[in-house]
Order: sequence, then C-alpha cells, then structure tokens
Amino acid sequence: MPMIAISHVRLIDGTGQVTERATVLVRHAKIQAAGSVRQVSVPHGALRINGRGLTVLPGLIDCHVHLCLGGEADVVAALEQDSPALTLLKSSRHARQTIEAGFTTVRDVGSRDHSIFALQRSIDQSLLPGPRIVGSGLAICMVGGHARFIGREASGVEQVRAIAREQLAAGAGLIKVIASGGVLTPGTSPDQAQMTMEELTAAVETARASGKKVAAHSHGSAGIKQAVSAGVHSIEHATLLDDEAGGLLKRHGVYVVPTLSALATTAATRRGCGIPDSVRDKAKAMTKRHQRSFQQAHTGGLRIAMGTDAGTPFNYHGENAQELERMVAFGMSPMEAILASTSEAARLIGIEGSVGTVEPGKLADLLLVEGNPLRKIEILRDRSRIVGVMKDGVFVAGPLAAKSRAS
Ligand SMILES: [Zn+2]
Repeated sequence: MPMIAISHVRLIDGTGQVTERATVLVRHAKIQAAGSVRQVSVPHGALRINGRGLTVLPGLIDCHVHLCLGGEADVVAALEQDSPALTLLKSSRHARQTIEAGFTTVRDVGSRDHSIFALQRSIDQSLLPGPRIVGSGLAICMVGGHARFIGREASGVEQVRAIAREQLAAGAGLIKVIASGGVLTPGTSPDQAQMTMEELTAAVETARASGKKVAAHSHGSAGIKQAVSAGVHSIEHATLLDDEAGGLLKRHGVYVVPTLSALATTAATRRGCGIPDSVRDKAKAMTKRHQRSFQQAHTGGLRIAMGTDAGTPFNYHGENAQELERMVAFGMSPMEAILASTSEAARLIGIEGSVGTVEPGKLADLLLVEGNPLRKIEILRDRSRIVGVMKDGVFVAGPLAAKSRAS
C-alpha cells in the first residue's frame, strides 16, 4: 500500500492545536508525520490528497452507545420482540451507521448478550464495517434495578463478582454498573441509589484485577457519591449533580460522560409517538437540571468525555455528532467539545496510546470534513460534508473510500 499524503489541510490534532496548512502522512495503519506543510515533506510515490478547504481531525470517539438498541420509541419492547440473532443483525447495521458518521471508536456500555463481542471481532477482522468497539457486555444491576433489559441482576458481593468475571471472560473491555435508577426502566427513580457500596466496590476490584475500568450509570448524586467512593472511572449521565458530588468527582479525577442527547431526544417527543408516558415525563422533568449539571461540571473543571447513549429512544446511531452541538450550546467551545470526543475520550477508555490524536505513531483513524468545525460545530453532523473516514490507515467511508476501492 503506498503512503497517503493529505496536504494543505486544516489539522485539528486532538491535543488542542490547530495547524492551518498542514500535511498528514499515513503509512500502513499508522500516522507517519503530521505538521505544517513547511515541515513535512511528501515522499516520492505517495498518493496525494488535496486537503484545501478541508479539516482533518482524529476519528471521533463516542464513550456511551448501545449498538443493540435502535432508537425505538420503546426499546424494552423492541428487545422483547426481536430474537437475539435479529438484534445482532440490527447491531451490525448500527455499527456501519456509526463509522459512516466519522466515529471510529465506541464504548458500548450495555448489550442484551455477549454477541457484541462477536460483532467487535467481525469488525476487527474486516468482515463488517464498523468502529473499533470496547464493550462491557451485560451491565450489572441490582435485582429489579434499572437497565436489567441489557443487564444481569445481582444480589450480594459474590454474585457481582461472578457476573463481572463472566463479562470479562467473554471479552469485556470494561465493566458497567448501575448505581442509580433510570429513565427507561419503569418503576425505578433516577434519584435513588442502586447497588450497595460493597457491591460497587466488588465490581471495581474484579475489573481492576483484569486491568479493566468501570463505568457507572448514575443520574442522582446519591448514586454518584457511592460509585465514586467505590473507585469507578466514569459517571454516565450525572444528570442531577450537587456540589458535594461535583467535588468528589473532581478530587478523584473521575470522568463525567454527560449523554445530553439521551434525555433531550426523549423529552422532545409528543404523546402518542410510542414512548411510554412514564419515560417522557421523567426525561422532561430532568432536562433543565441536566443542562445545569453539565454547566457545573464544565465550569468546575471536571473531566468530561463525550457520550450520546445512542440507541435510546429517537437517539439514533449515526447522529452521534449531535452531542457536540449540545455541549457547545451549553457552554463548551467547539475545540473543547472536539477534545472531549477525541483525546479525552481515548484517555477515559484507556486507549490514548493508540488513538485520539493525530500524532506520529498513532493508528491512522481520521475524519476528513469540508469546512471548519471550529467555526460551525454542526458541520460534523452533516453527512454531505464528510469527505473521508479512515480507520487503521484505510478509507472506510465517505467519497474517498469509494474512490480508493475503485482504484
Ligand atoms: Zn446508556
């Protein structure tokens, strides 16, 4: 495979730097060089791509998706109706939609079974198009707890350990625990803490013994405090943050994955669209608080990594970049939103050594778009502006992928 040179391109490299006229050299699966056109010379025989008018950035990373859910109005009912095989086929479609949108890595934090790992391997073996997947398998929740439709219910420390080990043995790249009630599961309250301190700690210890991290679902502060004290690495949603929980997150350097899109897409629906009334009522009641919690996290200097909760009602795979628009609308600069979706996301997942920035030696996961997302973040969601999505040094989506297949 010849070297690929993208030149005269605007480079947003994921470290916070912008280079207006840059060259990026890709050789095999990796980035060989990236910098100003004056510093990086293009070797003879390289395949040249004219990057004038384009911006290149690291392939985007979504830290919170559910590939087994398809944005149905009632996702619990959809899973009950579909066989596991049909769910897996739909998941593979969602994976393709995700990579076509410029997302080259996702963290899947809860699926109905272990087929997510089969999907991950089939993508790694280039049998199917899709992002690299770091998956948790089934989430761990208390008996009768939130997310049991994509989880396993555990009672007591021993069961938590056994279920965590099952996920790790099947191929989990992280463990997901449910530390508060949720929106989608009837009869659970987002304010309530779920699972005990001892159970959460057992999950963290089991994951750590395998070198893996733990993501904790928690809307309310009671659940956040328990989960952070137990040693988890990220709080998903953090919708109803109070000062004490915010302080604890900061002291422990724990990431917040806000998933603003999850509540916003549900709250924006009308009666009769098929979303259960209990779900919409909960979402509506929480969106204002969610916005304030996000602003508190941002201005308070908490570590924030981007996640959409794609797959939840009307929150579609392939629309992942809507989250950056929401983060900007609530006070982040476009650059901050991009960092949360690239290098910060990679750091949370623990893969910052290989992806998340455009630097020599990193895997060549790139997104090439028309225009400047620092001026207009909406560009990232506009499919007609995606010129190429590269994963492991190969264009896999966008017009450049079609072109490289033809040549
Ligand atoms: Zn979720």
